[in-house]
Amino acid sequence: MKRIVTIGLAGDAGCHVALVNLHKKFLKLLRSVKILHSYILVDEKEIPNEIDLALIEGAVRTSHNEAVVKEVREKSKCVIAFGSCACFGGIASLCNILDLNDLLDYVYQHTDSTVEGVIPFENLPKVQEKVRPISDIVKVDYMIPGCPPIPEEIATIVQAILLGLKPELPRKNVCDECKKKRLGITPKVIKRVTSKPDAKQCLLEQGYLCLGPATRAGCKAPCPNYNMPCEGCRGPLETVPDQGLAMLDALSALTEKFAHEYSPTVHLGTFHRYTFASSFLAKMLRSR
Ligand code: SF4
Ligand code: SF4
Repeated sequence: MKRIVTIGLAGDAGCHVALVNLHKKFLKLLRSVKILHSYILVDEKEIPNEIDLALIEGAVRTSHNEAVVKEVREKSKCVIAFGSCACFGGIASLCNILDLNDLLDYVYQHTDSTVEGVIPFENLPKVQEKVRPISDIVKVDYMIPGCPPIPEEIATIVQAILLGLKPELPRKNVCDECKKKRLGITPKVIKRVTSKPDAKQCLLEQGYLCLGPATRAGCKAPCPNYNMPCEGCRGPLETVPDQGLAMLDALSALTEKFAHEYSPTVHLGTFHRYTFASSFLAKMLRSR
């Protein structure tokens, strides 16, 4: 039996929920593996030795997260970055644009729900300066992106690895899986979804900012197919080094006006919602 662990770092357990959302397939998987340690599935505190496969959810935010990732890597034959926080830093890494002290000060001392708050530090792991994807700390063998990942894709990738195969992620973008019609129309303005879009036509052509062109396929485009723009939760293709800048580039080719209006402080959460920690933009802003 293959020995598996699942780990939770700075995340919200959504990827683990996607795992158990496999329902019967999850039960089938359990016949061929033994889950030795899992922060929501098994009550075992220690990380065991001789792990065949480790699924790591969440980004690295604290010194404890970093120590856990290193320990798991040392004890595992195969490490999977499980979900977009582990793969790219995720939504939590948007706070990397702020100074850590300002952030702690705001959260613990100046939010409406905090009265004479103190910033906790005693007997706690150190909060690190920046949120990071696990690949910043250790070698990652495979990624399962998504916020959360697609249960079917989790099953396919995990089963392939257990069979000794080398699974690959799709090499197309979300537009390739989207059912909406592209008519070659250039949008006059870029806008938020405040009214009901035309259900048949490409959302980007209607002016709604859809990250489909810069996002890896594999989810079957549920968001645009339900008339909501893709937010880019699966991150970029390997050939696209920076998802947000690639989308900005695509948009600039459509409407030059927007490139002049772009500002990281205003648009970061739209263009780099899931990938800021691993983006070129983050490095550029740091080196200023
Ligand atoms: S709606 Fe979005 S995902 Fe669909 S074709 Fe247009 S840009 Fe691509
Ligand atoms: S369409 Fe975009 S936001 Fe929606 S699940 Fe797919 S990658 Fe994620």
